[in-house]
Amino acid sequence: MSRISTTSPDAPPRIFRSEEELARLPASERIRYRLVQADRRYHANDNIAAFMREGEVEELKTEVQAKLQEVLQALVIDTDSDHNTRETAKRVAKMYLDEVFRGRYVPMPAVTEFPNAERLNELMIVGPITVCSACSHHMCPIFGKVGIGILPNEHSNLIGLSKYARIADWVMSRPQIQEEAVIMLANELQQRVRPDGLGIVMEADHFCMHWRGVKDTETAMVNSVMRGAFLKDANLRREFLSLLPRKQRD
Ligand SMILES: [Zn+2]
Repeated sequence: MSRISTTSPDAPPRIFRSEEELARLPASERIRYRLVQADRRYHANDNIAAFMREGEVEELKTEVQAKLQEVLQALVIDTDSDHNTRETAKRVAKMYLDEVFRGRYVPMPAVTEFPNAERLNELMIVGPITVCSACSHHMCPIFGKVGIGILPNEHSNLIGLSKYARIADWVMSRPQIQEEAVIMLANELQQRVRPDGLGIVMEADHFCMHWRGVKDTETAMVNSVMRGAFLKDANLRREFLSLLPRKQRD
């Protein structure tokens, strides 16, 4: 049974649903309901794992497959006779949920943090890390490289080198906008490592530039985020940029 809450005169009314009612809804509506109740944003590049229950990724896959089948029908593709497209809706749904947009539906990979016992305080460079994403405007692939510079202090937590790549992959495996992706990655690293300075440079090819529109095959997009000491100290920033692999500087 649904009822309208009117506890606060200013807040928009919320419809409360019982667990039974929720269970009858498609998984996407159930998850959306929890997000709205919690007043949480669910943009394309937001992670919503905290609002999902076991088995719901599989339910979403089934829903997405059915909708993609409708897209193929709307494109007037005969998926019954055309053996190439018979399983396409299923394949693409699996690819979205399990692979290319997985970073929306699973929690951040476990990362062990070590105290900075050696009190390292020299510039560290990690990368280039190869990243794949998709633009949220066209859902076209984005392929790129990320270089990370860290200036730790004695209170920083250090994380293993491979973990930078795991966290980057988790942030990028969502429909993204490059400018927002680098900021999200910087926020995650800032929170975990707590360095004095953090710099991130991402250079990427956007296939919506190559495949459609102007069909430009040369343009790559470069974005950077500089935090703390990297903002204040021009020499440090220059040192970081000069140590990035050649391709990321040109
Ligand atoms: Zn695009």
